[in-house]
Amino acid sequence: MGVGGRPLGQHFLSDPHWIEEILTSAAPLEGCRVLEIGPGRGAITYPMLTAGAQVLAVELDPKLAAALKKRDGLRVHQGDFLEVDLPKLLGEQPGWRVIANLPYYVTTPILEKLLTQSAGLIDDMYLMMQHEVAERIVSPATRLSGSLTHFVRYYALADYLMKIPPDAFSPPPEVESAVVRFRFGPAPEGSQPKRFFEILRRAFAQRRKMMRSSLKGLLTPEQFALARVEPERRPETLTFEEFLALEQAARS
Ligand code: SAM
Repeated sequence: MGVGGRPLGQHFLSDPHWIEEILTSAAPLEGCRVLEIGPGRGAITYPMLTAGAQVLAVELDPKLAAALKKRDGLRVHQGDFLEVDLPKLLGEQPGWRVIANLPYYVTTPILEKLLTQSAGLIDDMYLMMQHEVAERIVSPATRLSGSLTHFVRYYALADYLMKIPPDAFSPPPEVESAVVRFRFGPAPEGSQPKRFFEILRRAFAQRRKMMRSSLKGLLTPEQFALARVEPERRPETLTFEEFLALEQAARS
């Protein structure tokens, strides 16, 4: 069940103003290869085609997938995005863009898959999600930050682009929405993702605790000192760079 009890998170964008805003933020689309997850009734799909994009749309609902009109430049894959072999789906070709109004009930696994399995094939992504999730992603070193904030930053730079009200959708969801832009970059030099994510996971599993206690066994007081991070701090006060410094110190 999706937000507001809708199966498969089916809240369709119906306000042309917001469709225009999203496409303008990703412009120009002419000649671009765009992956869309959950095209639904094509609210964003058809305008993207009109703007000159080639769209590969992955839709789980067989009825919606079959109802999408055959149009030049549109390829529809019916199935669960979480199950697809992403590099194979993208034809191992770099230069893809992703534009999607995500089904909110699976935002995090979809985002994780896009970040970790795209293997350098995607340049940027414009993803609509629940406003609260968007805020968390773009707020390092604040009360809102969590392991997702720094996990995302490991792969991409995220910018909060716009907040969209519930009445832009039919039926309206119970929550506010937002569009976040992600621009992929190279992985931080010399970092070990496995240990970096383990530090994040352990630190935020007990976010009210000092890190000297939640990271016991993983980092010594000397390693905290090497990273120039006071072990009494709580994880929500750390920047991305400080988490990276902890991971580097853990190797010493
Ligand atoms: N893009 C359309 C729009 O903006 O009007 C629909 C967006 S709606 C929020 C999410 C869409 O994702 C629905 O069409 C739903 O059927 C589809 N969907 C849900 N889970 C999915 C999954 N695991 N893989 C692919 N599509 C999915």
